[in-house]
Amino acid sequence: MGFRLVVASRNAHKIREIKELTAHLDLEVVGVEEVGDLPPVEEDGETFQDNARKKAVETALFLGTWVLADDSGLEVDALGGAPGVHSARFAGEGRGDRANNQLLLAKLGALPLEQRGAQFRCVMALASPHGEVEFAEGVCRGVIGFEPKGSNGFGYDPLFIVPELGRTFAELSLEEKNRISHRSRAMAGMLEILERRLTEARGIW
Ligand code: IMP
Repeated sequence: MGFRLVVASRNAHKIREIKELTAHLDLEVVGVEEVGDLPPVEEDGETFQDNARKKAVETALFLGTWVLADDSGLEVDALGGAPGVHSARFAGEGRGDRANNQLLLAKLGALPLEQRGAQFRCVMALASPHGEVEFAEGVCRGVIGFEPKGSNGFGYDPLFIVPELGRTFAELSLEEKNRISHRSRAMAGMLEILERRLTEARGIW
């Protein structure tokens, strides 16, 4: 029997990435907006883990289904780990990706490449219909460029250079990004959890 997993995100890019990463599993992956009208979950935690837990558990208890939530963001070394959990609203609530990228460039100014190290971090939380939760985490290191490059992806992708490839995330195809991204690394850990849960659940469902 198919197993339904609701992804507690309204970000179409993230849902697409997660669908792609779970395509080999016997899972029906649906975004939260396909399920109906849900009250929004406030992301006011101090860590990615707090926010991922909150999104997964509140949505799972509301829907009575298995829910996967991720919380992610960019941590820039020279900014002491900022914007971190504030990545989506770095330049202010609702200002969007372009403003966030411009602010990041302004804050780093003319710092040389060797001082522009950064990482994307992703924490995934899987909540059972009863609100029990398990986590997986992934990190991807890179360098913040001097200008946006590329048009794929979202968020800070046009500024995030992968040193081994010499290209930004926004210059990679989704497949290339998925091979190395923080989300795919967190997903690798989450796949082990999902596979175990699927095996356990098969006897019950
Ligand atoms: P979340 O939806 O609360 O996890 O917010 C994550 C924010 O971090 C996004 O709005 C982006 O600004 C940034 N972010 C997270 N993952 C990525 C990524 O893969 N590429 C670019 N930006 C990302």
